[in-house]
Amino acid sequence: MTDVAIVGAGVIGASVAYWLTRMAPSLSVTLIERDRSFSQASSSLSASSIRQQFSSPVNIRMSLFGAQFLREMGIALEEHGYLYLGNADALKAVHEVQEQNGADVALLGPDEIKARFPWLNVDDIELGALGLSGEGWFDGAALHSALLQKACVQGAKLVQGSVVGFERSNARVHGVTLADGARIACSHAVNAAGPWARSLAAAAGITLPVHARRRTVFVLSCPQKLAACPLVVDPSNFWFRPEGAHFIAGAEPRIDSDDLPLEPDYAEFDEGLWTRMARRVPAFEALRVERAWAGYYEMNLFDHNAVIGAHPALQNLWFANGFSGHGMQHAAAAGRGIAELILYGAFRTLDLAPLGFARLLEGRPLREANVIG
Ligand SMILES: Cc1cc2nc3c(=O)[nH]c(=O)nc-3n(C[C@H](O)[C@H](O)[C@H](O)COP(=O)(O)OP(=O)(O)OC[C@H]3O[C@@H](n4cnc5c(N)ncnc54)[C@H](O)[C@@H]3O)c2cc1C
Repeated sequence: MTDVAIVGAGVIGASVAYWLTRMAPSLSVTLIERDRSFSQASSSLSASSIRQQFSSPVNIRMSLFGAQFLREMGIALEEHGYLYLGNADALKAVHEVQEQNGADVALLGPDEIKARFPWLNVDDIELGALGLSGEGWFDGAALHSALLQKACVQGAKLVQGSVVGFERSNARVHGVTLADGARIACSHAVNAAGPWARSLAAAAGITLPVHARRRTVFVLSCPQKLAACPLVVDPSNFWFRPEGAHFIAGAEPRIDSDDLPLEPDYAEFDEGLWTRMARRVPAFEALRVERAWAGYYEMNLFDHNAVIGAHPALQNLWFANGFSGHGMQHAAAAGRGIAELILYGAFRTLDLAPLGFARLLEGRPLREANVIG
């Protein structure tokens, strides 16, 4: 018997376990993970970048807390900002929301962008939005392992197993069943199964529109250094940023169906991405692909935002899924939010209610203007 059974020990499950054991040290918390090498987990295959430049207040506030948490945990955070390039009206509209919610972002005209980043072609750019602090990239593996280790030191138990079902009656879950026939009785269960969250939800009879969508990240070398390079988001929907001596880059995929094998799609680079990158940064004519990797976005096809909370049909099965490309930066806030729901029955710090199940059931998507790839 455990108080809380968390299915999946990626960054989200680890964060829920960390916050539960930090806030309630006597609680028994069990993390159930089927692949302790995390070889296919999104948390191992992430680009681990963090931005405040969302259009929804809840996403902005989760990122602000994410940056604060990284600093508190002593995780390396490279604060070089995101530079969104594009249409003036669209950038100004989201900038207002960002300012109201505490984000530190400056709007720059083409001349100002050129003065800061002389290597960038701004011929077709009306405006740029540059994050001045709390934005950039971080050591995602260090965050994941710190959360997991601290959760275990604080008393959480990590067990190997694949959850295949839930025992349920009277709108409550009473236990989880594993593929080897074992059963773990619990007072609460958490779906932290990342890109596999939909099938886990289905095992409890709940429809969750989270799909495993492959994204390729290219590791590139360029003979020319780009001074003070931020993470650049291009209006033609690709991004790049420095990674050590190299660059990494990605774009919306050519083929976007469910559960594609986790092999990089090298043709994406040759058939479009390279041309677009070289148009934006002429020095990128000389780019060379060093290698590439692929991971799954846990894509919420309803509105590309996380689903955090319980479904009305089951009061004690908690969901923290569908982060759609921003789960590393939101892991700290999501884990703390789920811990508050379990321990207090309500959010105590950040109100994550806009990310609840209600919007899915009522057909009210939470529109996020700044979705990347
Ligand atoms: C290419 C790429 C780039 C990204 N870039 C960024 C970025 O820049 N910034 C950002 O914030 N986010 C980014 N993300 C998203 C981020 O990585 C994810 O949102 C986050 O890692 C999700 O964590 P998770 O714990 O939910 O899922 P995972 O890390 O996938 O963990 C889920 C775990 O559940 C386990 N599991 C699943 N089903 C079961 C079961 N039935 N029984 C037992 N165990 C089970 C799996 O084995 C897995 O280990 C990126 C993702 C990818 C793929």
